[in-house]
Amino acid sequence: MNETMTSTAIEASSGVSAPLEKVALETYVPPAKPSLIGLSRAEIAERLGAIGVAPTQRKMRVQQLWHWIYVRGARNFDEMTSISKEMRSQLEAHFTVARPEVAAEQVSNDGTRKWLLRLPSGDNLEKAHEVECVYIPETDRGTLCVSSQVGCTLNCSFCHTGTQRLVRNLTAGEIVGQIMVARDRLNDWADRDTPTGGRLVTNVVMMGMGEPLYNFEAVRDALLIVADNEGIGISRRRITLSTSGVVPNIIRTGDEIGVMLAISLHAVRDELRNELVPLNRKYPIAELLQACRDYPGSSNARRITFEYVMLKGVNDSLDDAKLLVKMLKGIPAKINLIPFNPWPGTRYECSDWDQIEKFSEYVFNAGYSSPVRTPRGRDILAACGQLKSETEKLSVRERQALRAMAMTD
Ligand code: SAH
Ligand code: SF4
Repeated sequence: MNETMTSTAIEASSGVSAPLEKVALETYVPPAKPSLIGLSRAEIAERLGAIGVAPTQRKMRVQQLWHWIYVRGARNFDEMTSISKEMRSQLEAHFTVARPEVAAEQVSNDGTRKWLLRLPSGDNLEKAHEVECVYIPETDRGTLCVSSQVGCTLNCSFCHTGTQRLVRNLTAGEIVGQIMVARDRLNDWADRDTPTGGRLVTNVVMMGMGEPLYNFEAVRDALLIVADNEGIGISRRRITLSTSGVVPNIIRTGDEIGVMLAISLHAVRDELRNELVPLNRKYPIAELLQACRDYPGSSNARRITFEYVMLKGVNDSLDDAKLLVKMLKGIPAKINLIPFNPWPGTRYECSDWDQIEKFSEYVFNAGYSSPVRTPRGRDILAACGQLKSETEKLSVRERQALRAMAMTD
């Protein structure tokens, strides 16, 4: 099946809009006014105060804005017909409800969609930042894989994102903005009759680019908005935050956000984990597992997921499986085996399928649910750990050529 056919099929079944073409970097114009997306109710009230909205009116206005932005998906103030015309033009003069700009959209032959989003970086257009977010449709759910940073500082040796030089934290607005963009592009604001109960985006995983717990406050503020049941309303049980093991912020995640936790474990011995996940040198396995034991709100009904990437001849022996089972004793856990997704230039290979099966079987027989994550969107480099922004991959010469092309157009 080719891409056009696939996207047409998706459109027919779910009413999503057609894929976008890649937009040249040089066309990026940073927004002139601030967006209200990503602000808490208190912050919106404060902004309204600053433009002269009377204190007695603020609460009601905040409620109206919240509903229009997060329930109805309004893309401008004009649509907000329950707000007076005067108020709307006052809002329009100072703010927007703009989302990150979609620079490109790709559709995989398995229906996975990847969006490349362009973000401002101050006033230097040359340095517009990019992040990716990925939508993975399944029969019983639709999962959006969201980024928390441009790039990542942590350099896990098997992860493509970790090889990206450029790094910056996303703001809460840019994180919530990814969900807004996905709902826009999937035409997912109105309730509809589908097997997933009306919405296409039903789950959110913080498993895109970046280490969410190195951008804690913005991730927390964003996820509280995503979970708010007077707005986007995705329940905390349907939001998973994946961390490579930033121990001091794990307990805070439970206390202050209350979402499901996933730990990128990948190795059962410190020596190997130091190599695969260098953060292990700072927070070794024993400390990490203690934080998991102490994770607020975990229970048999709310298990912690341990992610384990299957690397051929590196971490995939039955001895590894045995030690894994032994060390997770006492923690309400699920084990998620991830076939390694290769990327250009990597030194690792994915374990052979029968080895993955043996590993999985051992873990399963020891009483753990151990689904093997089906790689999705491989053809558009959208699978786990493959995200890396396109502009980062271009050499200086390629960037110059692109710029020259844009000038002659
Ligand atoms: N930084 C966070 C979240 C983003 S990575 C973390 O590391 O948990 C999301 C998941 O993809 C992590 O479990 C990560 O280890 C895994 N991953 C990274 N590169 C991968 C690759 N090439 N193949 C398969 N999984 C990969
Ligand atoms: Fe960063 Fe996660 Fe990739 Fe490690 S696996 S480099 S923490 S994004």
